Amino acid sequence: MSVADRLNSIKETIPASVTLVAVSKTHPVETLLQAYHAGQRHFGENKVQELTSKVPLMPKDAVWHMIGHLQSNKVKYIAPFINLIHGVDSFKLLQVINKEALKNNRIIDCLLQVHIAAETTKFGFLEEEIISMFKNEACPQLKNIRICGLMGMATFTNNQEQVQQEFRGLKGLFDRIKAVYFNDDESFKILSMGMSDDYLIAIEEGSTLVRVGSAIFGAREYY
Ligand SMILES: *Cc1c(COP(=O)(O)O)cnc(C)c1O
Repeated sequence: MSVADRLNSIKETIPASVTLVAVSKTHPVETLLQAYHAGQRHFGENKVQELTSKVPLMPKDAVWHMIGHLQSNKVKYIAPFINLIHGVDSFKLLQVINKEALKNNRIIDCLLQVHIAAETTKFGFLEEEIISMFKNEACPQLKNIRICGLMGMATFTNNQEQVQQEFRGLKGLFDRIKAVYFNDDESFKILSMGMSDDYLIAIEEGSTLVRVGSAIFGAREYY
């Protein structure tokens, strides 16, 4: 199957209200263009260098998502153009993004990454860390970032029930945070959860944005 065929068959399974981000890491720009010409606009990358090398080679209306772990010292390279940063996992990183956004005269949309998996290796905030960040007086002063929602990655397992429980937990946290801290804030509306193997479960559990790579582009040769 071609990239366009795979993309179209995935789109048929996704409600129009859910954003599909095509995770194009490791794939060459020619492959991204196949998806683009099939109508895909949202692309996700997890490495700053790869992202910044692809952006100038792609049409201007592509929408770019930084989905990987982001180091503070690399924020400056993506601040001029990035559309959404999914993996914000510390207040320090949020402050750096705010500073770089200000330099570029932009407001940068961010998602807070939440640790929902059983593995210890996945990055992300714990619930209590998010709450204490919001209570920090310095947080509301960050005028050049917009916290648009949460992102999470389920455990890498065949146990669908476990994955479902983890997504359900993240949706519950999303709703609580929305109710307490963003009740009048329409921009807090994105719940980024679901990848190639679990995006249908994620959508059932309330995902508004899925990050799908290998199911569109095929297997990656390296991670
Ligand atoms: C690679 C990656 C994806 C996509 O993974 P697939 O299993 O290929 O769909 C989604 N989210 C993040 C954060 C990733 O790093």
